[in-house]
Amino acid sequence: MALIGAHVSIRGGLHRAIERGESLSCEAIQIFTKNQLQWKSPPLKLEHSIMFYKKWQESYVKDIVAHASYLINLASKGDIRLKSISAAVDEVSRCRELGIGCLVLHPGSHGGAGLEKGLMRMADALKELLARTDDAKTKILLETTAGEGFSLGGDLSHFGALLELLDGNSRIGVCLDTCHLFASGYELAPRESYERFVSIVDKYVGIDRVGCWHLNDSHYDRGSRKDRHAHIGEGCIGIDAFAHILTDERWKHVPCVLETPKDGHGDEGNLSILRKLRGY
Ligand SMILES: [Zn+2]
Ligand SMILES: [Zn+2]
Repeated sequence: MALIGAHVSIRGGLHRAIERGESLSCEAIQIFTKNQLQWKSPPLKLEHSIMFYKKWQESYVKDIVAHASYLINLASKGDIRLKSISAAVDEVSRCRELGIGCLVLHPGSHGGAGLEKGLMRMADALKELLARTDDAKTKILLETTAGEGFSLGGDLSHFGALLELLDGNSRIGVCLDTCHLFASGYELAPRESYERFVSIVDKYVGIDRVGCWHLNDSHYDRGSRKDRHAHIGEGCIGIDAFAHILTDERWKHVPCVLETPKDGHGDEGNLSILRKLRGY
């Protein structure tokens, strides 16, 4: 079945994230491997990587995915593009050192240059990233977005186009974020809508390329193109959507992690709702 978990902090050291995951009984966690708001971070120390890896091996936490810095924009141009590619290369290297198999990356924004140009730039930057990290097995999971402003990834066809430009490279996958999908217009709660959505995923991306789900309810209504996460069941998506995902055999072994607000009943409350919806 789907692996239920949450995004957890690395405060106090990377291995502390695994401890936080364990204290929440997470089967999967998502982490930043560095300060996500800075372009550059000091390299990982070998002893810290070993500590992390050992802790993980002994842990109840089965899978760990990394989320890349929010600053990276592979659909940009000029200086930001160069900085973004270098930062993404560093993110992949960190994943490799830590034994993390998947890196979630936002597709970026074309900044007004237009969708087609944005996708071309993105594909070129991804090609470079893949070439510069070809000794790593780490998959790049491009995350669906709410489709706000000039951002790419608000429509699943964008990922289909990127995959075509990348000749279906096997290191490219997707991360499906329920809040973003809903905000960009996809309906997920009625059973027929959910099945229709999955068939669209299969058409443009392929079920096998789904490497992670972000389970967040949406504060704003469907099609709002506004990204604000809400506690599970307290937003506009409809709780059935989460039950469909968590009981769907197609997401067997796929990490399904919360990025919901930490206030109120927090991760603990949301995780217990997810477990109830999954049935155990
Ligand atoms: Zn997300
Ligand atoms: Zn979001």
